[in-house]
Amino acid sequence: MDISRSEIVTISECEEKAYATYREDSTGYVPAGADSNITALQGSALHKGGEILFTQGPTGPWREAIHDELAGLPEPHRKIRTTLIRRAMLGWILKRYPQIISEWKPLGAEVPWKWELAPGIHQPLRMDDLMEHRSHGGIGIFDFKTAGAPDLNWKLRKEHSKQTHLYVKALQDVTRASGKFVSGMMYDCIEIGKWDSKRELMKSRFTTGYRSKGGNTISPKWSYGATVVNLCEWTDDQWLEWIEAHKGLNDCYWTTGLILPPSESLERTQSATIVKVQNWQIKLNVVKNSLDRRLEANIQFDRNPDACLTYGWELKCPFYYRCWKGSKLDAKTFEPRKNHHEPTID
Ligand code: SF4
Repeated sequence: MDISRSEIVTISECEEKAYATYREDSTGYVPAGADSNITALQGSALHKGGEILFTQGPTGPWREAIHDELAGLPEPHRKIRTTLIRRAMLGWILKRYPQIISEWKPLGAEVPWKWELAPGIHQPLRMDDLMEHRSHGGIGIFDFKTAGAPDLNWKLRKEHSKQTHLYVKALQDVTRASGKFVSGMMYDCIEIGKWDSKRELMKSRFTTGYRSKGGNTISPKWSYGATVVNLCEWTDDQWLEWIEAHKGLNDCYWTTGLILPPSESLERTQSATIVKVQNWQIKLNVVKNSLDRRLEANIQFDRNPDACLTYGWELKCPFYYRCWKGSKLDAKTFEPRKNHHEPTID
């Protein structure tokens, strides 16, 4: 059985979502909402640009890769999102790239592997970027992330995340034969702001500025009475000069530094994951061999109402309406709201 890391993570989040996303053969599949598609494409553009940057350096065609990835988006998204990701990457080249490249030698980007999680269970892995430390030779994994707003617990969550544990353990297992050692995993996060669907703009210092009330100054930060200025029409050089003058890039690039969880934590995560995947395999077989797969899936797979709106209403789970039959969830209880006007039978 092949199982991806994201499927494993989704099983813990909500079994129904994992089944519908990865295994259902499209029966009753509800496509993801427009906003979540755009967010996924945006992430993919960042990774493709980052891959070229890592392998070919800042003079490589990373801008073209970002533009190609987002070329199919409707306006105003295409213009705004390409500007956003291109400038996010430009800032990263200024603020983070020199330090990383002085310490690490890139080995390759998006390296695909098949890791044997347990006998008969394989996990295809795509390491974002592998790098070798220039002085001690340890191997590290680098991964890009984005966030809408600062998150104080981000580093802690990454230290305990399944992704970190499974990637580091996989890299240890795969490199053991070569005599190399693993230094750990490093995440860099870019704070890219949030999409404002009412005004159709990205509230982000990469694309939007604010003109102060009664003045001419444009600032990356909103102040009372300020008006929005669309910075997508500026050239990147103009924007860079402006944002640097406001020291606007100094707090939007965060890094976890190298994370190397203790071996026993890695073993524990691996064992827990194996048990989870084996149970998953049993449930999948029961559903596959049943006469009415959808009915059996309803019985076998738990639904987790707490996971439906984890990333907010705009990025709600794509199966939301199917699960809740069109009823909205109560924001406090996460139960479908009752229609009090529905006729009742005594
Ligand atoms: S809508 Fe909620 S319960 Fe249904 S699959 Fe998605 S996360 Fe699970």
